[in-house]
Amino acid sequence: MTVTEGAGSSGHSVTVTASAGTTTLASGGSTSLSATATDSAGHTGLSYAWSDNGAGGTFSNTTVANPTYTAPGNTGSSSVTRTLTVTVTCKWTSPWVSSSANVVLTESAGGHAVTATASASPSTIASGASTTLSATATCNRGHTGIAYAWSDNGAGGTFSSATSANTTYTPPANTSGATVTRKLTVTATCKWTSPWVSSTANVNVLERTK
Ligand SMILES: [Zn+2]
Ligand SMILES: [Zn+2]
Repeated sequence: MTVTEGAGSSGHSVTVTASAGTTTLASGGSTSLSATATDSAGHTGLSYAWSDNGAGGTFSNTTVANPTYTAPGNTGSSSVTRTLTVTVTCKWTSPWVSSSANVVLTESAGGHAVTATASASPSTIASGASTTLSATATCNRGHTGIAYAWSDNGAGGTFSSATSANTTYTPPANTSGATVTRKLTVTATCKWTSPWVSSTANVNVLERTK
């Protein structure tokens, strides 16, 4: 009796593709995922294993073809990429064979960032004379209610209000015999969402001697 073994009967291979319901998520957002796999020998009962490669998100189930993925949350001020990988394995015959596919998601920024600028008018003053300071700060997420804090870095002058965007600064008298530079610093802080974020800006005022 002769038994003929059909060509290819000892080998098999898996082909897999993967997709997401949406590839752009809000910070901490979710999306459905779908993996489609076929075995070259027609084997069924393929096993699935999903991973976000250490990003820290969660799957509704890591061992099904169609789980829901929830991103870990992005506290940064710019978007980040999350690469998800599904590995599909056919265990029907030995050796087991596997194949993987990736889905690339973009998780939007949940954080925010402040940009501040400062100016003085006039920027050159007589000894002990006042000048008007103006600060402008914006949060990249459009948040309002930014807090301001002015400092003359220990020079000993006074502000009409050290916590207003626009304030009047009066330096101490300049008795040094030469023009001095007063470095004024404003710190602008957005407290709209946690974590709070700050930015500083400097403006120099030249104070002439008596
Ligand atoms: Zn197979
Ligand atoms: Zn903000």
